[in-house]
This record gives sequence, C-alpha cells and structure tokens, in this order.
Amino acid sequence: MEEKLSFEYAPTPESRALVTIKPKYGHFIGGKFVAGSKHFPTINPATEEVLSQISLAGKADVDAAVKAARKAYTTTWSKMSGKERGKYLFRIARIMQERSREFAVLETLDNGKPIRESRDVDVPLAAAHFFYHAGWADKLEYAGLGTTPKAHGVAGQIIPWNFPLLMLAWKVAPALAAGNTVVLKPAETTSLTALLFAEVCQQAELPAGVVNIVTGDGSTGALIVNHPGIDKIAFTGSTEVGKIIARAVAPTNKSVTLELGGKAANIIFDDAAIDESVEGIVNGIFFNQGHVCCAGSRLILQESIADEVLEKLKNRMAKIRVGDPMDKNTDLGAINSKEQLLKIRELSAVGDSEGAQRWSAHCDLPDKGFWFAPTIFTGVTQAHRIAREEIFGPVLSVLTFRTPQEAIDKANNTPFGLSAGIWSEKGSKVLWASQQLRAGVIWANTFNKFDPTSPFGGYKESGWGREGGRHGLSAYLKGVSHE
Ligand code: NDP
Repeated sequence: MEEKLSFEYAPTPESRALVTIKPKYGHFIGGKFVAGSKHFPTINPATEEVLSQISLAGKADVDAAVKAARKAYTTTWSKMSGKERGKYLFRIARIMQERSREFAVLETLDNGKPIRESRDVDVPLAAAHFFYHAGWADKLEYAGLGTTPKAHGVAGQIIPWNFPLLMLAWKVAPALAAGNTVVLKPAETTSLTALLFAEVCQQAELPAGVVNIVTGDGSTGALIVNHPGIDKIAFTGSTEVGKIIARAVAPTNKSVTLELGGKAANIIFDDAAIDESVEGIVNGIFFNQGHVCCAGSRLILQESIADEVLEKLKNRMAKIRVGDPMDKNTDLGAINSKEQLLKIRELSAVGDSEGAQRWSAHCDLPDKGFWFAPTIFTGVTQAHRIAREEIFGPVLSVLTFRTPQEAIDKANNTPFGLSAGIWSEKGSKVLWASQQLRAGVIWANTFNKFDPTSPFGGYKESGWGREGGRHGLSAYLKGVSHE
C-alpha cells in the first residue's frame, strides 16, 4: 500500500517593513513628483486594505507630461550618444537589482501575486530588460535596422495590472535605448511599483522629462492615445481597448504596437513525458493566478492519455497552496480586483450552464480579499465560451483530440494567436506542430518562459508588433519594419 506523506508548512511571511508606502502619491513629470488634483484608492487585493491614494491624471497633467517629454527629447535625450544613454539604462538596472526586495514586496502588496513570483520572476526579468536594452543603446546602427535608425520622439505607453513592473520594463527600456522619451500610465489598480520606479529614475539621475509617469484610469489612457504631441503608442491590455486605440490612431501619423489577449493551446501528445507535462499545464495556467495574456488556458489533450493526465493534474492541483501572497510558500495569490473576480465567476458559470464539468481542489480561501480556487473544466467543446474567450484567471478548459491534425485545427480555432505549447518526445513532431500553429510564441516541453532577447507578440486579435529582442527594439525606431 502506498504510504501517504503530508507536510505542514510553517508560515514564512516576507517582511512588509521593507517598503514605505506614502499615504498619497502625485505624478512624476519633468523629473519631479507633482501633486495631483483628484485621487482614488489603491488596495491590497488579498486583504482589501487601502494602501494609498493615487492621483487621477486629467488633461492638464497629461499635457504637462507630454511637454516635459518633448523638451527632454529635443534638448537632451536625442542629442546624447547611444553610449551615454546606455550608461543610464545600466544604472537603472543596477538600482532595480539593489532595491529588488522592495520592488517585490510592493508588487505583491499592490497586485496580489505571490512574493515568490514577484521576487523570482517579475523583478529579475524587469532588471534584465534594462540590462539587455542598455547593451543595444550604442549599437543601433549595427542591429540590421539601417545605418541611421532614428527614434520616434515621445512614446505614450499604457500598461496593464498583471505584471505591473515587468510591463513597465518591456515598454520603457527599449524606448529609452532607441532614444525616445516616454509618458507612461500604469493600470489603475497597480500604480505603486511604477511610482517606485520614478524614484529609481531620480536616483539614477536620469535627465528630467526622459521618463514621465502619470497615474489614472482608462480616461487618462485615452488622453495619452489621442494627444497630438505623442509620436508612438505602445499598449498592453484587452483586445477591446486595443481596438479602440487602433481606431484612434488610424487617421494619425502615430506608430503603434498592441499586445492584447490570448487563449493559448497547450497541446499534450501521447508520447509526452506525463509528469513534466502536468507541471507544464500547472505552470501554464496557474502561474500569476492565470492573469497572463499568454496563459495556456486551453489544454488540448490526446484522448489516449487523457484519463491519466487528468488524474495526475487533479492530484497536483490539490497541492497548490492558495493564500497569503506575502507567504514565501504560497503558489497562488489573490485575484487582482473585485471586477476581475466577477468576470472569472461569470465566465465559469457560463461553463457550467453550457454543460462542461467543473472541478476544483478543495482549498480554504481567506474571508477577505478576492480569491478563486484553481479550477478545470472538462467536457469542453470548441463552441463553449470558456474555450473561446479569455477568462484571465486560474481556470483551465480541457479539450481532447485523436489525431495530430485535429490538435492543430482545434488549437488554431480561435480569434487569438499569442502563444502555444507543445509537449512531445519527438523533435520532428514538435517542429511539424510549431509550423502549423498560428501563434507568435511557441514553447516546446516548457511553458511561460520569458527572456528579453526573445521577441514576444501575437497574430490576429492578439495584437500588432513584437516586444523584446531586436524585433521589439525596431518598433521604437523610425523607418524600419516592425515584424
Ligand atoms: P484594459 O485593456 O482596460 O486595461 C489596460 C490598460 O489600458 C490600463 O492601464 C487601462 O487603464 C487602460 N485603458 C482602459 N481604457 C482605455 C482607453 N479607452 N484608452 C486607453 N487606455 C485605456 O484591461 P482591464 O484591466 O480592464 O482588463 C479587462 C480584460 O482585459 C481582462 O479581464 C483580461 O481578459 C484582459 N487583459 C489582458 C491583458 C493582456 O496582457 N493581454 C492585460 C490586462 C487585461 P485602467 O487600468 O485604469 O482601466
């Protein structure tokens, strides 16, 4: 008989004392923090505690930020050599590393993601993006982008709440390396690490106005998108808002990159290593509470191994520790906002009503805050909404297939095309499948791996252009292809 081992985990909380959160924040414009006029609260989604009051930028604030960015572009940044710009980026990267615990704690408090992820994934990757792009700053003419690549000027950048600091790094680092200045708006629910980043810019003595950060909601984002003083828009967020932005910039000369939603297929062939695949499924959908645009939210499983994989997956899911994001043992933290929780609940209820079978591991969810247990739906068909729409939460839809071609057809049957995963022992099958899949990023025998050198972006409704690597850099330079 198999002996059952169980371990109790002692609480291992990270110290909150590592950060000082001010009661109220303003905007960062022209190298200084300036007071905002209207404010809204930002809360810790794990406890619903109000952490601080964030300023809501209106027209005057956005105008001031764009003016500061333009002045910095014309008087300083565009005149500086790439080598000098690179030094600032290296300096920012090093300070981010030095202050990494502070960034990790603040990110976890404001976002709800486990400290283990903010400490081991978000913050190191954000610093890596600055290091990587620092290296590009003085080599732009050797990057295969023409002999005299030019910056756009002022970049307006709008980012979401799922990876607040990392998305800032994806946007700011290439923009500065290419010689642009920026006006960035973090998401309404997660402004704190962007405001700490503003302090890093001061500490690095970045020339005033090269980075400007205005906080606010969608109306602030729209002011940036429609501002005549902005030359390039970079957006990550929902496909719905991406379409609004595409329409807004269509009649203008603004250049635009959009990184939007996804509904990635994670395909497990019958020759795959089962235990490793199960880990990959868990990492694919439950990493960051499933708030990941490239999450492996559709499991496409070969029928002959479906029972075995699902049994192992359920056993593994029962061991996922859900709870206090500040505890270093926690695997799955809080849902970022009440609105997002309601959306996840609503789409999951649609899964029930359309006839799919819901299963979640038993877990005690905290009374306060926003929580959703890791969940799978089996018996899902391609017609179900939970197989077609982005849930953006810890919910996996399971479909099955019999032949490799059926797997590809099902995987590609989506309006999105951001990412995909393939699990197989056979290299030839992996290469064949990756050539058929219409997705911008394809992982083989792994999932959710990110690197600043690797371009990231999608097909179809998943967006336009790439971020990361040489391709991402080209989006911040004029007269060169974005693909
Ligand atoms: P949004 O697309 O609304 O938000 C992304 C960013 O755009 C935020 O900074 C937001 O501000 C801003 N914004 C909102 N409206 C406008 C506008 N009209 N013009 C310019 N900027 C705007 O995503 P949500 O946070 O509302 O999430 C909704 C859904 O989007 C999620 O359930 C998920 O499915 C998907 N999503 C996908 C992401 C991805 O990486 N692909 C990331 C985040 C969400 P504010 O935060 O104030 O609304």
